[in-house]
Amino acid sequence: MSLRLNLTLKYAGLLSGVVILLSIVVYSMVSVVMTNRMDANLETAANQIVSGLRVDEAGGLVLDPAVVQVSSTIHYQVWSEDQEILLSSQNAQGLEAALDSTSLGVTGPVFKESDLQEEPFRVLTVPLTVGGQAYGWLQVGCSLAELRHTQWLLRVVFGGTAIFAIIVSGLIGWVITRQALEPLATVSQVARQIMITDDLSLRIPVTPGRTDEIGELVLSFNQTLVRLERLFNAQRRFLADVSHELRTPLTVIKGNIGLMRMLREVDDESMASIESEVDRLTRLVGDLLLMAQAETGRMPLMLEQVEIDELVFEVFEQLKVLSAGAHDIQGENIEPAMVTGDRDRLKQVLLNLGSNAIKYTSPGEQILLNQSVSGNWVQIDVIDHGLGIEEEELSHIFERFYRGDKSRSRAQKDVGFGLGLPIAYWIVRNHGGRIDVASEVGRGTVFTVWLPISQAEIPTRPIHTAPPLV
Ligand code: ADP
Repeated sequence: MSLRLNLTLKYAGLLSGVVILLSIVVYSMVSVVMTNRMDANLETAANQIVSGLRVDEAGGLVLDPAVVQVSSTIHYQVWSEDQEILLSSQNAQGLEAALDSTSLGVTGPVFKESDLQEEPFRVLTVPLTVGGQAYGWLQVGCSLAELRHTQWLLRVVFGGTAIFAIIVSGLIGWVITRQALEPLATVSQVARQIMITDDLSLRIPVTPGRTDEIGELVLSFNQTLVRLERLFNAQRRFLADVSHELRTPLTVIKGNIGLMRMLREVDDESMASIESEVDRLTRLVGDLLLMAQAETGRMPLMLEQVEIDELVFEVFEQLKVLSAGAHDIQGENIEPAMVTGDRDRLKQVLLNLGSNAIKYTSPGEQILLNQSVSGNWVQIDVIDHGLGIEEEELSHIFERFYRGDKSRSRAQKDVGFGLGLPIAYWIVRNHGGRIDVASEVGRGTVFTVWLPISQAEIPTRPIHTAPPLV
């Protein structure tokens, strides 16, 4: 059954249920109230008749008309113990049978319904005692025709209302659910289209101003598609890049092996070339493994107390070697501080940032390593005066496999895999810190790493929950 039909049936069912329940309650209440009022009238009439009865000299029963003034709609009969009719009202003169023959003989007052010449009657039977002597029974009755008619009218009105409510609520429900569920049909249509065509650039049309659950669903679906598209594009680009990266060293290795086989000797140059390519392959595999571990939250961290100033100094020395004197590498304001973390991983972060600075800065330019303490945080800046990063690229540089403008990257000798920054991001995150970046094209880039200072070192200082904003 479709969701639309399901919702419509439930909606109509609920509304009709309420209407029917309400009808039953009103119907029962009207019936009970009218019957009670009728019984009260019969009781009053019976009391009046009993108080107006006298025994004459001959021992017969007579009714004092001055006392008895019952309504013309009330019928009454007085029956003797021998079941003979002693007295009856004018409107009951033609009746030979008792108003309620089944109740003659009762010992206490009884209300009953009976049919009198095919007309329904409500009858009160009371045992009759006049002057201390039992005389039989008094029966007082009135027609139920008006009550029955009112009940019939109520049944017709409520029945009609219920049918009308079912039809109208069904129609309204059908229309409303169609309007409400229409975007869902579009969602499934777009999803089907994506499945058939593998085209992740498709989007669900958004109704402006729609902020309900369906609007949110459409928005989330579109956002998921944007994310998926970006991810697939990144994967595709990465696959193309990785196959290229793999092919180049493998071709070089194969060429060198072929050369050595041809010359039947192992020459140093070929061996060095093979070694360098194997190193590059190893680095790629290592980065991929680390990334996979980081993303699944299984990055192994060997935590220890790390003297971060010492670590920054080591990185500073290593960057000088890496740059081979091509850049003016400076270290500044290096303050002693302890951080709880994995020494090798933290070093990897700073080396990734530092080597990027070297990679994307022209020879002769300055690269600055700045480390200071700010509150409970260690702040490490890697500042270069290189190419800078485009504004639209800034939000992507921490994504896996993302590499800046191809032509620019390709112009560099040491093309990376686009994994350096995401790995740095994950490592810092796993240490409870954060990386910020600020850049201007043509002027340079500043990467800032924030790490929480080891609490063992500062037991009395309050712990900040987040690094200060730059
Ligand atoms: P890659 O291996 O390509 O360097 P990263 O993840 O380290 O990968 O960096 C992603 C991209 O961010 C780079 O391709 C580059 O475009 C940009 N980038 C990173 N650091 C710098 C920097 N210091 N200056 C300019 N661009 C940078």
